[in-house]
Amino acid sequence: MEIKAIRGFNDILPDEIGKWQFVEGTARKVFEGFGFSEIRIPVLERTELFSRGIGEATDIVEKEMYTFTDKSGNSLTLRPEATASMARAYLEHQVYTFDPVAKLYCIGPMFRYERPQKGRYRQFYQMDAEVFGVENPMVDAEVIVMLIDFLERVGIEKLELHINTLGCRACRPRYREELKKFLTTKAFQLCEDCQRRLETNPLRIFDCKVETCQEAIVNAPNVSDFVCSECQKHFEKVREYLEIAGLAYILNPRMVRGLDYYTRTAFEVVSYHLGSQNAVTGGGRYDNLFQEIGGLDIPGIGFAIGMERLVSLLPKDRKFVQSPQLFIASLGDETIKEAYQIINQLHLQGIRAELDYEGKSLKSQMRRADKLKARYVLILGENELKKGRAVLRDMESKSQEEIPIPDLVNILKEKVKGQE
Ligand code: ATP
Ligand code: MG
Repeated sequence: MEIKAIRGFNDILPDEIGKWQFVEGTARKVFEGFGFSEIRIPVLERTELFSRGIGEATDIVEKEMYTFTDKSGNSLTLRPEATASMARAYLEHQVYTFDPVAKLYCIGPMFRYERPQKGRYRQFYQMDAEVFGVENPMVDAEVIVMLIDFLERVGIEKLELHINTLGCRACRPRYREELKKFLTTKAFQLCEDCQRRLETNPLRIFDCKVETCQEAIVNAPNVSDFVCSECQKHFEKVREYLEIAGLAYILNPRMVRGLDYYTRTAFEVVSYHLGSQNAVTGGGRYDNLFQEIGGLDIPGIGFAIGMERLVSLLPKDRKFVQSPQLFIASLGDETIKEAYQIINQLHLQGIRAELDYEGKSLKSQMRRADKLKARYVLILGENELKKGRAVLRDMESKSQEEIPIPDLVNILKEKVKGQE
């Protein structure tokens, strides 16, 4: 029987990996430049970390978690997101005793039991950046500016930054009640999930993708009309700092985030290239998360970027496939040892090189070099070899020259340098 991968779990093959490495490399550079350090956390955690941290009434906790009981009877969950784990690690290792401010990022797979479709998988990758320990709205702007800078550097176009404030523990309950009152009159229009959300987490209805639910909220009250003066002031400062940074944004009073723990600043970056699965990334402030999981009053803000959606938006004209710098085509049995010696030297010098293992004809070796998009081909013929020389063919210009074999590494390095 042929064994296949589980539905919603993807392989990322070598012809795609260049994009992933580019995106990750750029993220590391940008995030580290903004003062963030990488943290690696386990993919498996105790279930209560997520049910308490993310909130019982979120879609993730209600129906999307990969939860199972291990052989000792512990309920464990494959992480559906990274923020709760990062917060746990920060508390567990008392990172705050070293410095109250922690700027952390994390790259890795997340797991959610969702219906697999384009842009929505059961294992997917996220890049997360979080700041723990700062309430100052300056940091909200810092994080948003970093996110946009990153997206621009990877070449994502047609982006819109939407921001909103969601209020806090003091002011949100009143809004929640108003919203509930309003939506109760429209309950017949709501999907089954949203009828439940009406009781548990009515704000989440804004986020629902079902059309009739979207219609039901058209005239709903806005959270920004209900926030307290503290939250209002905080948000004004965030906007002021974004303006200082020269960043354009759209004030979107309808944008809420799916997770329960968000407070105050919320933001989302959408791309109209993505269709209905259009959110590439979103984030916000979560000043209650630490209370939920560790009893400490520590503010936090951050975002998560969905890597599959991001990679699908990369400019189409960029080349990401790694092709050999040199392909060695050798003719005749005598040359194969020489070919191995050369390729071994090239590999030790960090030059990406490939050869033919099968002793095929020159024509078929050249065909393979072409298919692999080798930049140069070294043709090793018995006669030239006796003189210590070989033919180097430039596969782009189709020109070729005879070169002394001992000079090959230097010649290649020089040529490659000129092309970078
Ligand atoms: P959506 O509304 O699309 O379900 P979400 O609000 O659940 O997104 P978050 O929890 O904020 O998403 O995660 C941040 C990002 O992770 C999303 O913007 C998206 O790019 C990506 N993402 C979330 N769920 C999936 C998934 N199942 N497959 C692929 N990417 C995902
Ligand atoms: Mg979701």
